Amino acid sequence: MSARFDHVLAAVVAVGDELVLGQKLDTNSRWIADRLVLRGLDVAAHLTVPDDVDAISSAIRRFAERVELLILTGGLGPTADDLTRAALAAALDEQLVLDERALEQVRLWFTSRGREMPEQNRAQALRPQTARMLRNDHGTAPALHAILDNRCDIFCLPGPPHEMQPIFERDIEPTLRLPPERAVHTTVIHTFGRGESDVAAQLADLMDRSRNPLVGTTASLGVVSVRIRARGPDGPQRLRETESLVRTRLSEILLDDESLAVDVLNRLKARQQTVATVESCTGGLVGEMLTSIPGSSQAFVGGLITYTNELKHRLADVPHQVFETEGAVSKPCAIAMAEGGRAHCHADHAIAITGIAGPDGGTDAKPVGTVWIAVASENAPTDARRFLFKGSRQAIRTWSAATALGMLRLRLAGHNMRLLNQQEP
Ligand code: ATP
Repeated sequence: MSARFDHVLAAVVAVGDELVLGQKLDTNSRWIADRLVLRGLDVAAHLTVPDDVDAISSAIRRFAERVELLILTGGLGPTADDLTRAALAAALDEQLVLDERALEQVRLWFTSRGREMPEQNRAQALRPQTARMLRNDHGTAPALHAILDNRCDIFCLPGPPHEMQPIFERDIEPTLRLPPERAVHTTVIHTFGRGESDVAAQLADLMDRSRNPLVGTTASLGVVSVRIRARGPDGPQRLRETESLVRTRLSEILLDDESLAVDVLNRLKARQQTVATVESCTGGLVGEMLTSIPGSSQAFVGGLITYTNELKHRLADVPHQVFETEGAVSKPCAIAMAEGGRAHCHADHAIAITGIAGPDGGTDAKPVGTVWIAVASENAPTDARRFLFKGSRQAIRTWSAATALGMLRLRLAGHNMRLLNQQEP
């Protein structure tokens, strides 16, 4: 069933007491809005409402007067506090009826897992009379689609993101109808090495808000992404021109992929080289980032977690004298860890990290957040740099791991630029 009207304006409603009370973060609205905007829709509002029939149904009625697409998430479970179905029926002024096919699907979900369907899950096969059920392949709660007043498509999707996203991609995205002049063409270019404001300064003239395409930046753990969004019939041509300008200006810091780990692994594989890790304050985070990428075994040999000085000495050959004269968070220690680890792990490159993640352990000379990172490679001098990261223990550890991958990337790309948060030696 496709809509008879164009989708121009959308709204997103997140349902759940846990969201309103601050016990869970509403990430669904962010994800859905991002996808809609990428397709060319405008998003009028996000609203979070509690598990309450009146609150949900009045949100539906209110938004349906203003938008052509309304997406709700959550509240489709089998329990008494899952009220989205009832609220949709109230907003449509319809009765709930049992959908036999949906009931079969819910039942099948249980029987294929060797369980009998609990009686209360029957409720998940209820739908307002004119609504249709959308299959959920990743959970028990089928989604719902209804049209209100012949002018607004309403979709009710399950709350868990891994259930919601595939339904959005299968049943909503392909059915969106946009007027031709609103067609949107987008691309994202990822960079690593400079701060967001630096990147924005380099693209200042392209980032004028009245320009088509629009150019914007976002940053996450040192990766600065540049989004380009062109509208209109000549959108593809405009997109190509601006993309080429952006790529030329940022050529030194372009990433292959949004993920630094993917970028680094691709470069290693292309050279048939390997890397090992020697981690102290990050406790294996770099190894985690690398091994989360399928196929990483072609380039990542493994690593050492050398948390104590003793293990730094025994596994990576850091001389005891280094701890006595310079301390474990020092340039000689990072260099020795990288070089010793590389030798022991028989890798072409090794990344070593040693730092003070806090909250205790900082001194005036080495405040919390001081981290030394070294990259050792065959036939090249070891690159060791001091960084000062701000934030919580977890933030310092995550930034350290991402920056270590960034340092390896510099080596593999043949660049030698100063990195974000880097200090004088
Ligand atoms: P289920 O059948 O799994 O109960 P549901 O549609 O009833 O699905 P809820 O019970 O509302 O979903 O939420 C289930 C879980 O999904 C929540 O505990 C939360 O972890 C996640 N979730 C719900 N809404 C959101 C949201 N807006 N953003 C991110 N996660 C969410």
